[in-house]
Amino acid sequence: MPTTINSIHNQDVIIHAQVKAFYYDDFLALRNINLPVYKNQITAFIGPSGCGKSTLLRCLNRLNEMNSKTHLDGQVLFHGRDMYHPDEDAVRLRWQIGMVFQKPNPFVKSIYENIAFGARIRGYQGNMDELVERSLRQAALWDEVKDRLKENAWELSGGQQQRLCIARAIAVQPEIILMDEPCSALDPASTKQIEELMHELKHQHTIVIVTHNMQQAARVSDMTAFFNLEMKEGSRTGELVEYDRSPIIFNQPKLEVTYQYVKGCFG
Ligand code: ADP
Repeated sequence: MPTTINSIHNQDVIIHAQVKAFYYDDFLALRNINLPVYKNQITAFIGPSGCGKSTLLRCLNRLNEMNSKTHLDGQVLFHGRDMYHPDEDAVRLRWQIGMVFQKPNPFVKSIYENIAFGARIRGYQGNMDELVERSLRQAALWDEVKDRLKENAWELSGGQQQRLCIARAIAVQPEIILMDEPCSALDPASTKQIEELMHELKHQHTIVIVTHNMQQAARVSDMTAFFNLEMKEGSRTGELVEYDRSPIIFNQPKLEVTYQYVKGCFG
């Protein structure tokens, strides 16, 4: 199936994923991905379960490399340079391209230390109190925790923990924040807070989000990439089917398969 990409010429491309194939052992999970990510935009990955959305997200900061049984054939350009080049430092790269996971994963430390610890090991030399306050304010959490900064982060609610993880990620000023189903463990009120936060964050950061929630993708994203499963080499492989501005994907996609998927999800 041909991928339809409507190029957005007047926007900066910050990441360009050009993945010919991605394997777990000998299982071909993804093929033929050509996906530019635009600066200061929110890009959503949608598609059925198992089509490789999280896998591709993890390719964007080399997180899949933590699993030695993976293999990527292709390149991912970050500001035009291949982030998989042997001279590139994956640890430093992940400071610039942070990640927020499905399940909030604060350290078993105080709220304050959750922000300060990460910044310290990245060599932050400035005023730590200011950094902690600024990060928590940016994550819309400061007012709720300013009087309990010494409490263990695990005592926060799930929604607060997720905003703390976002605060921890933005404390080191990443250019890009990758979010893998960040609201799937949260109640509707916390989900709304995170979505509002994303709109604020995109002024300073670029966001890529995997979501199974079609309404959420339509609400928050500027660009949407629709992935699907195709039969390949006897197994089901994820492919990028259509990529465009979100209003087009959700209202008038170019391909029938996208239309049917979106229509099915909205009911
Ligand atoms: P999605 O995010 O679209 O649900 P995933 O990226 O999680 O899809 O998974 C894509 C495919 O890769 C699935 O078939 C899944 O079972 C497989 N997969 C994901 N992670 C691993 C892993 N660590 N080891 C082996 N196979 C994996």
